Amino acid sequence: MPGDGIGPEVVDGALTILREVCSHHNTELQVESFPFGGASIDKHGTPATEEAIEACKSSDAVLLGAVGGEKWDHLTGADRPESGLLRIRSELGVYANFRPVRVYPELAHASTLKSSIISGVDILIVRELTGGIYFGQPRETNLDAEDPYSFDTMRYHRSEIIRVTKKAFDAARKRDGRVCSVDKANVLGSSRFWRDIVKSYAEQNETGIELTHMLVDNCAMQLIRDPGQFDVILTANLFGDILSDEAAMLTGSIGMLPSASLGDGPGLYEPVHGSAPDITGQNKANPLATIASAALMCRYSLQLEEAATKIEQAIENTLKKGFRTGDIFTDSSNELLVGTDEMCEQVLSSLQQKSGQPANQ
Ligand code: NAD
Repeated sequence: MPGDGIGPEVVDGALTILREVCSHHNTELQVESFPFGGASIDKHGTPATEEAIEACKSSDAVLLGAVGGEKWDHLTGADRPESGLLRIRSELGVYANFRPVRVYPELAHASTLKSSIISGVDILIVRELTGGIYFGQPRETNLDAEDPYSFDTMRYHRSEIIRVTKKAFDAARKRDGRVCSVDKANVLGSSRFWRDIVKSYAEQNETGIELTHMLVDNCAMQLIRDPGQFDVILTANLFGDILSDEAAMLTGSIGMLPSASLGDGPGLYEPVHGSAPDITGQNKANPLATIASAALMCRYSLQLEEAATKIEQAIENTLKKGFRTGDIFTDSSNELLVGTDEMCEQVLSSLQQKSGQPANQ
């Protein structure tokens, strides 16, 4: 689902990389493509057709570009491109959002934090996506009361906590084996409940994974003070929303951030950035967030862990060789400014090189 703006440019590049890596692993990739968001509104009068939704539901995984743009800004509610995004997330039942935050040594200087603090950071934030205070009932705003009030409800069911906890532990097993569950158990009953459920899940089901707990205010501080201490952070919808944006800024550029949303069916993979209308069609978009999302697809939906690692290494090698799109270019003498197409070609050529072979620039 390429979507709008720079979506088609970056999805195209990521598909080329996926095809290449699948061919190395004797995996045949079957790709169907559908207009989505604004592109679908223009063609079909709706941001997501039933045909597109059904195709997503019957696939192994969905790769999404981004949606939206000025052209559709006058639309409201269900007619807007973004409503297609919400629909697809809800149709696929993706309840766990994965946001890896990895600081590449070559880009460490692009962060607002000192290189010594962020060097080697590799965190996976697992955020519960379909429950908690964003969806809890009842909720009400009463402006006619004598003293007007408004409230939302933070409600979690045991089953909701267990299924996202399981995703976080499964992911930790493929990483450094450490999960830090983040809550506000010193104040909120729903957080004490969350902590108890996570603890008992770990006691009953997990060995070899180190589980710790941290209060969300402390976590916000630790992410800035010493982000290298974290492996997997597991947290509720509201806390995850805030912490994942905070952690994202450790990397310095939105063009580098991939995401995966997982449920019990097909996973949904998309870059964190939007459709970037200001650079659309100019061959300026950084495709690495979408290519890294394709790596996550290999890891979490296609069971191709080795392919995922190869893509990630190819991204790293391309950065090591100095290739930069405008958003991560710092004008240093070691860097080479390239467009979207060439960045994709360089990742592809890194993939094609045998490991250990010197770079072909
Ligand atoms: P944006 O992420 O599209 O752009 C913010 C800034 O980052 C822009 O200057 C853009 O040029 C730059 N940027 C973003 N991605 C980049 C990339 N890959 N390479 C280089 N530079 C990049 O956010 P915005 O400007 O707030 O929103 C633009 C449109 O995108 C809006 O219509 C918004 O609703 C939509 N949007 C969609 C999604 C999504 O589909 N998931 C997410 C966020 C925003």
